Amino acid sequence: MAKKAKAKSKKLVIGIDLGGTNVMAALVDTSGKVKSYVHFPTEAQQGPEHVIKNIADNVKALVKKSGLTMKDIWRVGIGSPGPMDSKKGIIIGAVNLPGWKRVTLKADLEKLLGVGVGVDNDANCAAYGEQWAGAAKGASNVVGITLGTGVGGGIIIDGRLVRGANYNAAEIGHTSLNPDGRLCKCGAKGCFEQYASASAIAESAREAIRKGASSMMTELVKGDLSKITSKTVFEAMTQNDKTAIAVWNEFIKYLAAGVGNQINGLNPEVVVIAGGVINAGEKLFTPLREAVRKQTFALTFSAAKIVPAKLGELAGAIGAAGVVINEGEFYNLK
Ligand SMILES: [Zn+2]
Repeated sequence: MAKKAKAKSKKLVIGIDLGGTNVMAALVDTSGKVKSYVHFPTEAQQGPEHVIKNIADNVKALVKKSGLTMKDIWRVGIGSPGPMDSKKGIIIGAVNLPGWKRVTLKADLEKLLGVGVGVDNDANCAAYGEQWAGAAKGASNVVGITLGTGVGGGIIIDGRLVRGANYNAAEIGHTSLNPDGRLCKCGAKGCFEQYASASAIAESAREAIRKGASSMMTELVKGDLSKITSKTVFEAMTQNDKTAIAVWNEFIKYLAAGVGNQINGLNPEVVVIAGGVINAGEKLFTPLREAVRKQTFALTFSAAKIVPAKLGELAGAIGAAGVVINEGEFYNLK
């Protein structure tokens, strides 16, 4: 028994996070520890065939550099933008990956690498990484929310990733917070990511200034409002800029509504918030927890910790490794 357990602990997998700009690939053991990693440009404009070949070449180089061969690699997991059929490993389309229409990512990578590959949604993988080896380690019911250009979501219930009827569950960023609100790129109105993403914070600041609000943010970007980011808002807020404070409070209000919906809907033990915005620390988390408390049932809220992510830019790659280690049967992996 002990010998068998030891053999399993030695198994190594590759976890990959495929983004529109960069790819992260990590060599990960079965406990979720990253042995080494590499990141490289996606070169998305060169089309799917090139992107997939480039990923395979970089994975092989990472394995070689680690003193291993592909025979030492048990499985490969890859998180990709969707929508997708994760069961078959087919990417149906991806906004940030030009030319990706029904790309057979699993089959193509398996052919190039000679190892079983599992494909899943990038945000699912990021949430799974935090649940398996990060901020929500040890918890069985977890919601992961990444605030970036958009809002990515992943849900783990009873220790298993929630994928849904055709594997497109957990699009938390496109749950509506305002049916009459801002038009989203998905075609719906008032989506979570239109109000509580990093780009939404910047957009709200621009909107306020355009409507005539005076703010030091205008000087911070030397009059070029397109240069306002969530960081600009945070910087101005910490210097008591009234407009920035109002924008930040508005952001917290919407984020709390979105997080509260997930808490009342799913009764999680942990909600992990990821993305650059978490660098705001307690200026984010203290008012967020307080606002969520007011939006949720007391008993449900009492079970839910709302915490910052721990794995940073490695979350997706670690999670992609985790799902193929722990849920290999879903991807038909041996
Ligand atoms: Zn949307």
